[in-house]
Amino acid sequence: MIPFNKPFLTGKEAHYMYQAVYNGKLSGNGAFTQKCQEFFEKKYGFKKVLLTTSGSDSLEMAAILCNLNPGDEVIVPSYTFVSTALAFVREKAHVIFADSCPDNPNIDPDKIEPLITSRTRVLVVVHYAGVACDMDRIMEIARKHDLLVVEDAAQAIDSYYKGRPLGSIGDFGCFSFHETKNVTAGGEGGMLTINHEEDIRRAEIIWEKGTNRAEFFRGMVNKYGWVDTGSSFLPSEINAAFLLAQIENLDVIQNRRKAIWNQYHEGLKDIADKERFSLPVVPQYATNNAHIFYLVCRNLDERSKLIIYLKENGVLACFHYLALHRSQYYTEHYTERPDLPNCDKFADRLVRLPMFYELTDDEVKFIIDKIKQFFNNI
Ligand SMILES: *Cc1c(COP(=O)(O)O)cnc(C)c1O
Repeated sequence: MIPFNKPFLTGKEAHYMYQAVYNGKLSGNGAFTQKCQEFFEKKYGFKKVLLTTSGSDSLEMAAILCNLNPGDEVIVPSYTFVSTALAFVREKAHVIFADSCPDNPNIDPDKIEPLITSRTRVLVVVHYAGVACDMDRIMEIARKHDLLVVEDAAQAIDSYYKGRPLGSIGDFGCFSFHETKNVTAGGEGGMLTINHEEDIRRAEIIWEKGTNRAEFFRGMVNKYGWVDTGSSFLPSEINAAFLLAQIENLDVIQNRRKAIWNQYHEGLKDIADKERFSLPVVPQYATNNAHIFYLVCRNLDERSKLIIYLKENGVLACFHYLALHRSQYYTEHYTERPDLPNCDKFADRLVRLPMFYELTDDEVKFIIDKIKQFFNNI
């Protein structure tokens, strides 16, 4: 069976974790955490990076930093993971779901302005499959209506919009290092990017359980205590050690993933042109970090049959998000019933193919052949 995902191992993870153990400093914000944070700040020019225990936690930190009042409205795409919306619901915000673009799952900038009211405070965008949203238009809308922008860049490490790293354009960027992402902190992990100097101090306090401990360790205050809200958002040094081994090999990982992505695209584009299914679109302004390779089938029935056909042939392909505006939680807690046809389309028809470092050229070729066989027989 060709699995859908398999985490990449560089071979140095256990070595660095061993070092962290024998350094005798296991709790958060030690040497490995700082090395990872510096790596990302240097490579991508992020103003400030804080490692977190998950992508979900980085979203929760961003939501706290938005300083919301109960009932404030936050616009979120419906085609995304639960955490993108839940982080703001936990801050007592009222979530307003937005539709995807017609030709890709990212939020459709044309659909945003009609959703804005006098209570709207935050616009959340998700760079689906690591492909940038149209950030010039997003930022223009946000400036016009005085909204904060949170980038859910959970899938978007090492990806760019017009040369600018994703996660550096809005007010806050939220990344995930879950084992299903391009690089992992040993199963669970994430990071928050803080793009304005004036938010850094509060972000560190929220990160350190509501205390000014980070300032204490820098020698800026002579004792630390409870100064604000917060939680324990720091990962252990063991996780940071694992992550460091991964990011030292980021280019190797990315090059292989892009080669697999390109092989799928080359191999499938002729048959896709015959309109049996469509392939991912990477707009001119975006790069591709090869997080996901997906097809969009003509309907739900064909997608279900394709997934079954591939499974019978030893290949695990997966659909992706269920629309959040149709979730049990939303329908129980909200009275709105928005009509989001593009989101529904991707929820019903999108299928993801296996994508991981160790996938071989022969395996990719085999998967392409099976997809061709399937579509030639329907
Ligand atoms: C993976 C993911 C998350 C959650 O990240 P975790 O590290 O699993 O908490 C949030 N949003 C999106 C778009 C994701 O893909």
